[in-house]
Amino acid sequence: RVELIDISKSYDKQSSVISNINVTIEPGEFFVLVGPSGCGKSTMLRMIAGLEEITGGVLKIGEQEVNDLPPSKRDLSMVFQNYALYPHLTVEENIQFGLHVKKISKEERANRTKEVAQMLGLSDYLKRKPRELSGGQRQRVALARAIVNQAPICLMDEPLSNLDAKLRAHMRSEIRQIQRRLGITMIYVTHDQIEAMTMGDRIMILHEGSIQQIGKPIDIYNNPANPFVATFIGSPP
Ligand code: ATP
Ligand code: MG
Repeated sequence: RVELIDISKSYDKQSSVISNINVTIEPGEFFVLVGPSGCGKSTMLRMIAGLEEITGGVLKIGEQEVNDLPPSKRDLSMVFQNYALYPHLTVEENIQFGLHVKKISKEERANRTKEVAQMLGLSDYLKRKPRELSGGQRQRVALARAIVNQAPICLMDEPLSNLDAKLRAHMRSEIRQIQRRLGITMIYVTHDQIEAMTMGDRIMILHEGSIQQIGKPIDIYNNPANPFVATFIGSPP
């Protein structure tokens, strides 16, 4: 369970880019953060990951307050927008990178890598370098790296933005399936309302750093809280 209690963020003293965010994300939930460019999605995800200082409020993971914990102690994994693969390492080495840091045995590393590669259709590509892969394959390597360390919480920031429409649709359902199968708690950022509506158990719509509405996609579609939400989601008038 990830609990945000009155979270805010300002990069300078004057203005805040996130204000008064209150929400609890339940275990196993697929939670989508959606809103237009610049509304604060990445900032929020980075605060949850521990990559950005929280300037107001309390963040809890489970029962623990984690505001001051470094990323490595938060028991979560993250997929970045640009995948952030290591170009000089093979697919296999990229997938295993986090496991070295966690001091997991060689045998266990090999087993987990094999399993996750199979799950994501990467078994034939393990010896290749990222530049020898297509965009969709790279995306799957990033995904594999995130799930191989078996963190209970996964954060994804626009992981599909570089893919063509067909591959994007395919990857959406692939991510959903894996998330369900493993029971991962997902916090997923996108600016694409269709992605949000099709993937999210619940979605949170952000505008200029403030929550506009939180709820199930169908409820938001049928009962938008305000004109911004109605326009953004494309609810019928
Ligand atoms: P996008 O969809 O374009 O990725 P976003 O919703 O992820 O947008 P953020 O990257 O969280 O938006 O940025 C929110 C606001 O904070 C923006 O106005 C941005 O200019 C500002 N911002 C982001 N990072 C910094 C920083 N390091 N220093 C100062 N301001 C920043
Ligand atoms: Mg962003």
